[in-house]
Amino acid sequence: MTRLTLRIFLAFFWVSVFPARIPAASAADAVFLINGTVVAPDRVIPNGWLAIQDGKILSITAARPDIAGARTLTTEDIIFPGFVDLHNHPLYAVFPRWKAPRIFANRYQWRGEPAYHQTIQTPEGELVSTHFCDMDTYVEIKALAGGTTSILGIYQPADTPTVPPCVAGLARNLDWASGFYGAGVGNERLGNILGVRPEDLKLSAVDVERHRAGGFDLVAVHVAEGQRTDAASQGEFSELEALGLLNAKTVVIHGGGLVEEDFAKLRRAEAAFIWSPRSNFELYGQTADISAAVRQNVTMALAPDWSPTGSTNMLAEIAYAKSVSDRQFAGLLSAKQLFEMATIVPARIARIDDKVGSLAAGLRADLFLLRSDVANPFDALAGAAPQDVTLTMVDGKPVYGALGYLTALGVSDVDGVTMCGTARAINRAALPAGGFTGVTTRLSDALTAKNIRLAGLAECAEETIAKP
Ligand SMILES: [Zn+2]
Repeated sequence: MTRLTLRIFLAFFWVSVFPARIPAASAADAVFLINGTVVAPDRVIPNGWLAIQDGKILSITAARPDIAGARTLTTEDIIFPGFVDLHNHPLYAVFPRWKAPRIFANRYQWRGEPAYHQTIQTPEGELVSTHFCDMDTYVEIKALAGGTTSILGIYQPADTPTVPPCVAGLARNLDWASGFYGAGVGNERLGNILGVRPEDLKLSAVDVERHRAGGFDLVAVHVAEGQRTDAASQGEFSELEALGLLNAKTVVIHGGGLVEEDFAKLRRAEAAFIWSPRSNFELYGQTADISAAVRQNVTMALAPDWSPTGSTNMLAEIAYAKSVSDRQFAGLLSAKQLFEMATIVPARIARIDDKVGSLAAGLRADLFLLRSDVANPFDALAGAAPQDVTLTMVDGKPVYGALGYLTALGVSDVDGVTMCGTARAINRAALPAGGFTGVTTRLSDALTAKNIRLAGLAECAEETIAKP
């Protein structure tokens, strides 16, 4: 048992045995009490209680704690920790899905495809320079609506020296504004390296240098994104090693070309791995050999990659991954393992598991509620529909959810949205760039002028998601 695990265990033991008795809260440090089936690290607590104060989880108890003046939300929902998404290109989530004209052998092929440049790459670059804050708001709401509370991969417009301040707020941007290391932008310990080819290394030169100097807690690198038999993809793992970038603070993304020995080396280097099955199947017709990764005991997280060819958000990627695991890998990964690969595992990889990634006293109150079968929370998660998410909180602040839930938690100024036919609301005070209706209208107009439709907030049931 690590010291952290012990600390969490002791905290949990304490609150479980000795019910919280806390004096009346003042308005400034209001306590939220949320009731539901709590998915804690070591057990599931039916009809349990979460007390939240000052952005943190104060206690988790089976019995209702005695806290005078607390704002209370009682539900029949499941309470999960928020997802930690370590691989995404979130700004592309304003675009509809990209129907690739063919199956590719590697990422360099489709990145050179004219159809990709015309429909996504070029308009994306233009939109980032004119509508960055609207894009950032829209795509972070999409992530939050799917339970993601921490994300990586927003990048700044080319003509600004750093990412604009509007990136702070909504989800935690782990590479720009997590809120863990002070307010504002630019204090973070996570970075991105686009890839190991010279052109990608050049674009990521600052982060490559900082990573080599040990200046990051974690760097995510695209490696061997393509088919297993593709020579360009196969060579990239050795390239990563030769560059001196394979170490305990590296997480390898995709790894389609990795073979058993590569995963063994990855494990020996104490590096980690991120699996993004949907984008892999849509672009390459296959995905990484996760059975080899599991045999080699590689630490493996799950992430959606991006929405044009991957999942809209982590919730949808879990459903897809479960199907791939069942049908292509003989049930290799359970729904519970996939839940962990989306929460505590990436939190550990990013060295933020003392802050987020699980529900335990003392950790940040980053969580979401799911209206589903409380008797089988992990299966419910893997089978969830977008409209099943009833509340998402970041740092103890309700951001998105059912109107009645937000109202119960004291949020009255909201923008209404429709999630697959179900009414949901967004807390306007959490929006960094004005109301959500205006954000949507401006983005929709800018895209329409380019003959592109603004992507919806999620893929709904009528949009059939083909799973291999
Ligand atoms: Zn990627």
